[in-house]
Amino acid sequence: MKWFGIALVDPEETRIPTPVGQSCGFCQEPIGAGDRGCTIPHVGDGPVPDVPYHFECHMRLVTGSLAHQQHRCSCYGGDEHDPPGMTLRQAAQAAFRYWLDHREDRPC
Ligand SMILES: [Zn+2]
Ligand SMILES: [Zn+2]
Repeated sequence: MKWFGIALVDPEETRIPTPVGQSCGFCQEPIGAGDRGCTIPHVGDGPVPDVPYHFECHMRLVTGSLAHQQHRCSCYGGDEHDPPGMTLRQAAQAAFRYWLDHREDRPC
């Protein structure tokens, strides 16, 4: 994984220039000059470029949607997805904020 727009924490990780204008692999919105995030190698056939993700969008993929964190999604017998009326990016930011506020509850 490579990071952009973010201070390096781990010297093993690579920092790359922000891929301004490329679509985020989660929300499909373009990466802006001031955004932070990471790129993840696209798993598939052939040589495909790394896919950039906004930091919050990457975290949304790690933590799950807001409904998942609140145990209202299909994993827990519910039927909620990302909140209606929000763009995927807004939903990712909401999920990340919720995770930050509640992460002391869970060891991972
Ligand atoms: Zn995004
Ligand atoms: Zn879930």
